[in-house]
Amino acid sequence: MQQKQNTSIVWFTDNLRVRDNFVLSAAMKASRQVIGVYFLTPEKFNDTQFGFKKTEKFRAKFLLQTLNDLKSELDALNISLLVFNTAGEKQMRELVKIYDVKAVYHQKEWTDEEVKKIDFLKKTLPANVSVHEYYDQFLFHPDDVTFHYSETPKVFTQFRKQLEKKALVRSLFSMQPQELSSKVETDFKLPTLEQLGFEDFEIDSRTAFSFKGGSKAAEQRLDHYFFKTQSLGVYKKTRNGLLGENYSSKFSPWLANGSLSARQIYWKIKAFEEQFYANQSTYWLIFELIWRDFFKYISLKNGNAIFKLDGILNTVYGWSKNSKFIKEWTEGRTANDFVNANMIELKNTGWMSNRGRQNVASYFAKTLKLDWRIGAAYFESMLLDYDVHSNYGNWMYVSGVGNDPRDRIFDLKRQAEIYDHDKSFRNHWLK
Ligand SMILES: Cc1cc2nc3c(=O)[nH]c(=O)nc-3n(C[C@H](O)[C@H](O)[C@H](O)COP(=O)(O)OP(=O)(O)OC[C@H]3O[C@@H](n4cnc5c(N)ncnc54)[C@H](O)[C@@H]3O)c2cc1C
Repeated sequence: MQQKQNTSIVWFTDNLRVRDNFVLSAAMKASRQVIGVYFLTPEKFNDTQFGFKKTEKFRAKFLLQTLNDLKSELDALNISLLVFNTAGEKQMRELVKIYDVKAVYHQKEWTDEEVKKIDFLKKTLPANVSVHEYYDQFLFHPDDVTFHYSETPKVFTQFRKQLEKKALVRSLFSMQPQELSSKVETDFKLPTLEQLGFEDFEIDSRTAFSFKGGSKAAEQRLDHYFFKTQSLGVYKKTRNGLLGENYSSKFSPWLANGSLSARQIYWKIKAFEEQFYANQSTYWLIFELIWRDFFKYISLKNGNAIFKLDGILNTVYGWSKNSKFIKEWTEGRTANDFVNANMIELKNTGWMSNRGRQNVASYFAKTLKLDWRIGAAYFESMLLDYDVHSNYGNWMYVSGVGNDPRDRIFDLKRQAEIYDHDKSFRNHWLK
């Protein structure tokens, strides 16, 4: 049997859950004592190059709720969660020294900012501390697909077919009750929203997303959407909706910070199919989760090109930075009322439907021909579910510099007629 090391640190990032968490399981198996850490680094809340805060109040509050939930889940496993609202290096060095830590475990990332943070932190650790990193954010793990990520097909359909034909989704990692020795004692308190520079707020009562952060709320939502209401069974018909809780799953904010895994959703769909029925809708939710994987593989393959104006297609368009148009768009004061209703929803709630996102992004990049990275940065700031791969992947796609083989522009008038024919969505947000 493998000799257990004494104390390990699990450095949590966007994997804020206890169940189906490979990184945490690996640390627990190998250690007598585990300490969880999370860094709410100041850069998370600073202004970015286009003048928006990197994280606005919606995601900040959701994150604090998530950390609160994670802390109590970890407590039950005899693991303390220490949350610092400072940069990680100094804290990590001190923790390693105080608790004689022998290993650090974390989720493997590959986008620029994340890699820089990880590399910097690794450099500050003493040489005798081992670092273990694992991919754990996919539905289809890169080790289980038949191609290397550098060979990821450019077109989604080819990607999906290859996965569906030849790869399997891993089973959930079961948490073995581990004999962990006592947790480290701290009188540690989570930072408050005020300490992160925001005033507390109540969410606009018109929101389509009124859920809380954390695995508990995520699992309740899963149960509600699948089993209580059986909304899953009609998902394909409702997924382009704009109003209300159940037109789509609303899983994305939990998926984005890892308080829910794509595998957990997949295996719940399989359980639903077993218990009730399988139809196009039950399949379609898996189909959408494959889109999520697709953009992760695309960023793995293309690296920083996903942040460049010419995107991964290297297509040169004439882009504008007209600040008046940008402001009107962010404030929902453009010449188009369908765009405005969606943008006001985002501004007031941190949420927007997929249909809405496609339309406002197309209007920004294709109609107004504004630098798409500015629109993406605004989404990054505002969205509850901001995810670097999905956000930049979708923005490139809509802007004609990504994976769409056709260079399309949305006919907004027609879109509004189809998806908001009685204007109920526009009236909801504009009246
Ligand atoms: C311009 C633009 C920016 C976007 N930015 C983000 C982002 O930052 N974070 C994010 O999670 N999604 C993003 N999306 C994708 C999509 O709009 C959201 O995932 C979806 O609206 C979330 O709602 P839901 O969970 O109810 O989705 P559902 O329709 O219930 O789908 C289930 C899950 O499938 C995945 N999914 C669905 N559609 C997509 C898609 N087009 N691309 C990738 N994954 C998808 C999501 O994980 C989603 O939670 C963006 C789309 C566009 C057009």
